[in-house]
Amino acid sequence: MADIFAKQLSPVMRTMTGPGPRPLYQAVEGRNGEALTGGARVVMAACNDYLGLADDPRVSEAAVRAVQRYGTSCSGSRLIGGTLPLHEELERAVAAFLGQEAAIVTTTGCQANLALSPLFGRGDVVFGDMANHASLVDAVQAGRAGSRRYRHCDMGHLERQLAAADGEAAKVIITDGLFSAEGDLCPLPELVGLARRHDARLVIDGAHDIGLLGAGGRGVAEHFGLMDEVDLYTGTFSKCFGSIGGFLAGPAEVIHFLRYTARSVLFTASMPPASAAAAVAALKIIASEPERRMRVFEVARRVRNGLRELGFDTGESLTPIVPVHIGDTGLCGRMWQAVLDEGVFTSVMVAPGVAEGHALIRLALQATHTDDHIARILEAFATAGRRLGAATAGAR
Ligand code: PMP
Repeated sequence: MADIFAKQLSPVMRTMTGPGPRPLYQAVEGRNGEALTGGARVVMAACNDYLGLADDPRVSEAAVRAVQRYGTSCSGSRLIGGTLPLHEELERAVAAFLGQEAAIVTTTGCQANLALSPLFGRGDVVFGDMANHASLVDAVQAGRAGSRRYRHCDMGHLERQLAAADGEAAKVIITDGLFSAEGDLCPLPELVGLARRHDARLVIDGAHDIGLLGAGGRGVAEHFGLMDEVDLYTGTFSKCFGSIGGFLAGPAEVIHFLRYTARSVLFTASMPPASAAAAVAALKIIASEPERRMRVFEVARRVRNGLRELGFDTGESLTPIVPVHIGDTGLCGRMWQAVLDEGVFTSVMVAPGVAEGHALIRLALQATHTDDHIARILEAFATAGRRLGAATAGAR
């Protein structure tokens, strides 16, 4: 008889899951651009705390004060007993920052995306980029709307899908602002044009770009000068904000509706006090210290240029997410290990996170990386690439 416990990982996954050190679930203690893993001190290049705020004393002191005042958990959902004045303060601050009428904060960014599903009703159609984050894909699946996936950033493909859809259906285009694997941006000006021509709403997941992009850190929409053209934002506090939690920001009526209908809000405990207080403190720093954004882009530019000079293929990224395309999954795992042996901790993206045969090493750079860290990252790739013969630009 079949047994639900008899399931096995795929052969590709099994190559990544042996005894450590291994690219997945490797325990690592990171701070200020460095980390301790398996007893070795290494450069941390796998952390999405792009602005280095998880180590900022102003952020951690705010978290400590919140624990002292409110304890460690709200132990209840936002709906019943789990809303602190701090959550409301954070919601007002996020809405004001993004120029939106209202915001709701959730316990994680994944849950903010899942909270979209009540908007996707029967007869509606959702158009999503094929490289969208898994939680956006899940939100569409959990709703009742029809789903169309367009090829990554392929506006011709999206346009054909929009044109083929029922003219009467409510339509929404949904995309990551900054794609998490390859560090490329969504083509927002074209998306805005298509949304307007086809009467579709536009929802942006700003998980990686809010805090990082735009002169004021308001994300991809500010970067393109299109803040007024986005209908709804989702985002996370787990990257630029150095905390954990998520949010949706948009028209007051929509946010009000989601407060009472989104299962990922109703049926889970609220964002812990320390995380909410850290996010409030981080938002102030994001708004007032643009030099952090400048530094992380400078670090990324130097790492990317250095890797290219070494012969690595870093794709289309112009952001602090720098992919190093390797291709073969096994070689990618060996390269990850070789880079770690040279003192740099990175992450890998393998199928199903990326297409089969398109495995890559992902570098996430931080404002707290020093010139010495940059040099050590480049030296590690030079040595590891020579050892494995992996520095073949265009291996894709
Ligand atoms: N959206 C995107 C594009 C992401 O990359 C992530 C996190 N990897 C999330 C949402 C979820 O954020 P969180 O970690 O806060 O759940």
